[in-house]
Amino acid sequence: MEKTKKFLLAESELPKKWYNIVAEMPTKPMPMLHPGTKQPLKNEDLYPLFAKDLADQELNQTDVWIDIPEEVREKLKIYRPTPLVRAYNLEKALGTPAHIYFKNESVSPVGSHKLNSALAQAYYCKKEGTTNITTETGAGQWGTALSFAAKAFGLELAVYMVKISYEQKPYRRSLMQTWGAQVIPSPSMSTKAGRQILTDHPNYQGSLGTAISEAIELAMSTPNCKYTLGSVLNHVSLHQTVIGLEAEKQMEMAGEYPDVVIGCFGGGSNFSGISFPFMRHNINEGKKTRFIAAEPTSCPKLTRGKFEYDFGDEAGYTPLLPMFTLGHSFAPAHIHAGGLRYHGAGTIVSQLMKDGLMEAVDIEQLDSFNAGVLFAQTEGIVPAPESAHAIAAAINEALKCKEEGTTKTILFNLSGHGLVDMTAYDQYLAGDLMNYSLSDKDIENNVSKLEHLV
Ligand SMILES: *Cc1c(COP(=O)(O)O)cnc(C)c1O
Repeated sequence: MEKTKKFLLAESELPKKWYNIVAEMPTKPMPMLHPGTKQPLKNEDLYPLFAKDLADQELNQTDVWIDIPEEVREKLKIYRPTPLVRAYNLEKALGTPAHIYFKNESVSPVGSHKLNSALAQAYYCKKEGTTNITTETGAGQWGTALSFAAKAFGLELAVYMVKISYEQKPYRRSLMQTWGAQVIPSPSMSTKAGRQILTDHPNYQGSLGTAISEAIELAMSTPNCKYTLGSVLNHVSLHQTVIGLEAEKQMEMAGEYPDVVIGCFGGGSNFSGISFPFMRHNINEGKKTRFIAAEPTSCPKLTRGKFEYDFGDEAGYTPLLPMFTLGHSFAPAHIHAGGLRYHGAGTIVSQLMKDGLMEAVDIEQLDSFNAGVLFAQTEGIVPAPESAHAIAAAINEALKCKEEGTTKTILFNLSGHGLVDMTAYDQYLAGDLMNYSLSDKDIENNVSKLEHLV
């Protein structure tokens, strides 16, 4: 019989609802706290900053399923359902008896999974009469996704892009501008926060913390303007569950069920997206699938961080989130997987981790590129440096199967392609990249500064 390589769903099988795992978690995440009063956050506290529907989704602990608006489904159809692919060539190169599958989110027009949430967020902003939205971007993937989403729903978007990335990653900036966004190198003279920093340090190259402050300030001081975020928050993970819900149907087409599900881990949105629909069956039916978050060794919040209340941003503007964190002042090394350089993990994933419903591994930078190149040479797709962490973790699991002589079914999420990250591959191929290790003291220094509220 001819072997099937890709499992494809019809457009009509694009999910009609998102899966809200919080409603079914054995232990709910602890509440987010207001940064001023330290009281549990109420929906109204979030309304000035976020669209109301998104704020309500953020704190929804009761509805298991949440309808995906028809308008959002219509835009998702530009690239969804995405393929599930059996990585036969990678299996062969590894000589493993394991069956390896990947969900290919790199087929979105922006090249990553981030569009799944960007479209939903832009839609809800538009629906409540917002005309302008703001955000910040480091490496540029989120800004890129939001630029297309804003255009799709007729919103004006201002993206504060960390100045050094603005200069070093011109193609992501070009993409954002092609889709009509205004891209501002941060720090800028357009906000009080930016002017302050530029007055004190005229040559400051920018940081994500400063860019966040600028984006929030602009949103709060502009009428009909909202702020958006591309990871970490519950509503972002919710929107990403289309990945796992499709994969569930596609694994069924393949006649298999995953023993292991793997995603790379920045703030947790693509990992949540591929995992939660399968984790549902562990929670409700006692299935024994393992869920593995793959984070970089240089930013190991899940494997070496501490569970504490911490701010979501460097500057300390956001609510306090109960999370595994390295401390909001932690400055990760400048690895090329920019999307994984975040100090904390979302609150849902942090609770799941605490409850032993998932696990985490750390991957060295060189191992991730090694895996990325092997994947490119066998399956043809050059993965994003972030996604290469998931590939490396999948390879490790597949090699374990080879050693033990067991046939396991491994599913990982290919969160994006690396075609706009070729400078990173150039440096890897030239032998100019290195690993970074952290001492316990490096970690303890930042985490011990946090107020102990858990
Ligand atoms: C942003 C990004 C990530 C990391 O973010 P998560 O919210 O953890 O998913 C991973 N892969 C790609 C391609 C990204 O753009």
